[in-house]
Amino acid sequence: MQSTKTVLKTLTKFSLLYPDLGALHVGTPYHMIVMVALSARTRDEQILKLAPGFFKAFPTVNDLAVADIGSITKAINTIGLYKQKAKNLKSMALMIVSEFDGTVPRTLEELVRLPGVGRKTASVILVAAFDTPAIAVDTHVYRVTNRLGWVKTKTVEATEQALLKIIPKSMQPIVNRVFVPFGRTICIAKPRCWACPLVNECTFAQKNLIPPSNKEKILNTIQSMRNGIRILKEALHAALR
Ligand code: SF4
Repeated sequence: MQSTKTVLKTLTKFSLLYPDLGALHVGTPYHMIVMVALSARTRDEQILKLAPGFFKAFPTVNDLAVADIGSITKAINTIGLYKQKAKNLKSMALMIVSEFDGTVPRTLEELVRLPGVGRKTASVILVAAFDTPAIAVDTHVYRVTNRLGWVKTKTVEATEQALLKIIPKSMQPIVNRVFVPFGRTICIAKPRCWACPLVNECTFAQKNLIPPSNKEKILNTIQSMRNGIRILKEALHAALR
């Protein structure tokens, strides 16, 4: 395992390389919990595209709680698992209204009681909506931190526990924000080590250091994706005003 000093140095460097807030960090806790719950196995771009119409139809958690399931399903039928997600959203909204006075709860223990909300979603909400330290570990954070040699774990749950021990609270909110986009674009299954700013610090044995012939095209596509998310976030921000 890496020392806390090395980890903090890398996180500081990365927070400058990835300065944007999370892709779904827009609006109120209600907006964020809906979008993060919808984002399971779905690209953020798809969620950001459907979000303006969704929140026009269901502007508050009360509207969502009383909505019929058919209208919720229709509003999200462009994404995977939409039938199950619609049911979870309705149940989640009902619980927020009936047990939490219509306010998204602010603790991990309460958040994970909501239908469709696991530890990862709850941790994302704690950081984004309530500025509370937490580390949301998904497959990207798991893969990147293991490859970097920060942890040696077999599951996302064990990764979260190991990272919580070595990363101080003040830096915990950065982890998911920087390693999710990095894991989606550079440290992918067959890593693009040829474009990695951490290549000298990484302990991964099977580095892929030879740039492909279409290197420029790949890097341009990555930059376009980042710009695309920024534009979609701005559009959603404007729609929610
Ligand atoms: S050097 Fe390669 S394996 Fe290591 S973090 Fe960078 S992209 Fe991932």
